[in-house]
Amino acid sequence: MKIDYLIKNGTIIDGSGDNRYEADILISDDQIVSILSKDQKTVKINDENYNLNDLSFNNIIDATSFIIAPGFIDVHTHDDQNIFIDRSMSCKISQGVTTCIAGNCGISLAPFDYSGDVPAPIPLLGDKDAYRFSSVSSYKNAFNNSPSSINISLLTGHSMLRVQVMNGEINRGATKDEIIKMQNILENSLIEGSIGLSTGLAYPAANNAPTEEIIELAKVLKKYNGIFTTHMRNEGDNLVESVNETIKIGKLADVRTVISHHKCAGRSNWGKSKETLKLIKEAKKEQNLDLDCYPYTASSTMLLKHFVDRADKVLVTWSDKVEDLKVNDINTIAKEFNCTTDDLVDKLYPAGAIYFQMDDEDLNRIISFDGTMIGSDGLPGDKHPHPRLWGTFPRVLGKYSREMKLFSLEEAIYKMTFKSAKTFGLEKRGLIKKGYFADLVIFDPNIVIDKATYEKPLTPALGIDTVINNGQIVWQSMKSLEIYSGKFLEGKSFN
Ligand SMILES: [Zn+2]
Repeated sequence: MKIDYLIKNGTIIDGSGDNRYEADILISDDQIVSILSKDQKTVKINDENYNLNDLSFNNIIDATSFIIAPGFIDVHTHDDQNIFIDRSMSCKISQGVTTCIAGNCGISLAPFDYSGDVPAPIPLLGDKDAYRFSSVSSYKNAFNNSPSSINISLLTGHSMLRVQVMNGEINRGATKDEIIKMQNILENSLIEGSIGLSTGLAYPAANNAPTEEIIELAKVLKKYNGIFTTHMRNEGDNLVESVNETIKIGKLADVRTVISHHKCAGRSNWGKSKETLKLIKEAKKEQNLDLDCYPYTASSTMLLKHFVDRADKVLVTWSDKVEDLKVNDINTIAKEFNCTTDDLVDKLYPAGAIYFQMDDEDLNRIISFDGTMIGSDGLPGDKHPHPRLWGTFPRVLGKYSREMKLFSLEEAIYKMTFKSAKTFGLEKRGLIKKGYFADLVIFDPNIVIDKATYEKPLTPALGIDTVINNGQIVWQSMKSLEIYSGKFLEGKSFN
């Protein structure tokens, strides 16, 4: 019997949160076919019993002193277009990530059938040429014809529905007719493989949508077991009100709900996580509610006035108007341009920024909260991105688990694997278990750490030895093998 891979001498942390154990793993095709304990002499594969001596292996990986974990799941990404531009997806694979959830914050590359100018934050995903997918089917087909090294799952963005149905008139709530049209597009998207609905209520494209508009749309999800994720209306002064709004939407639409990149933005709002987490904990008793976060105290998105106003410090990272703009503090650039920061925002738009505006204590509290998932929120289209794009997962393992000891390595891995697969309904992912897909990361627990910084954000992390996606090695010895084994993962109920 020929087996594709034997991974031997490693320590398994299986993603469930259970304690680590020593065992070998057998992989054939895209699946884990067996997990062998040390003294095992025979193995059952496809209902046949084999003596271990009768097996031969195409490849043997020695994982001595390494941890073997399920491939990490980045639950909050904007990789919709990046999977076509950089098929190796090195920014994620280098961290041990094997699956990305795209279409977050109300913006998704599909479905979108609109040729007018698009409001913020839609340009984050790419320029006009990027918006070529009028349906989720066309997006899925494009990916299947030219897959990346990573698996991708797609949420349907509320802002995309608004802009196309309301013909760009986004500064109001949708009419009843428009809501019905949006519901129809959303329903088709779910049928074609989208896993749910995302909103970006803090942004101009969706800020005028009343709560009722979101509830009516979210109601469509239930029949398809879709998920509702939200970049809430406000993450600063009205943070608590926004958490309450989210709880209300989830409850009235009766849908699984995820609060995206939970944070307390702006110095005057530091400490509010005590209250928000209490609200979330209470609501969880009656409804399906979860959250994700990234391990940094700076955020990043488009350069927008209301975000600039509440941040301690703002780095402007790109501008379509000033191509050769050097990354710098907004005040320094405003001086160079001899204008106010408000005028500068207008001059540079569309532009991007990094906002230093959160407190470590809130972050520590949120990331340690029972069941908080990890999502990078990285912006791959940014020439000088926030370091979270290349550093999020190793940073959680190295800094927050190993160095700060906020939680065990087993719990850290649960937050980025099985918890995420369960929540988003990704079948047979997120666990090291016989019959599950062979998405695996092999890393050195003693040295794993992020290396990307605000100055040098494109630096790969240390300590990630080998990454396997759907049974094929995609990253090894600090480089991509340019193997494109990713799959489009459709929404399904989780067993
Ligand atoms: Zn967001």
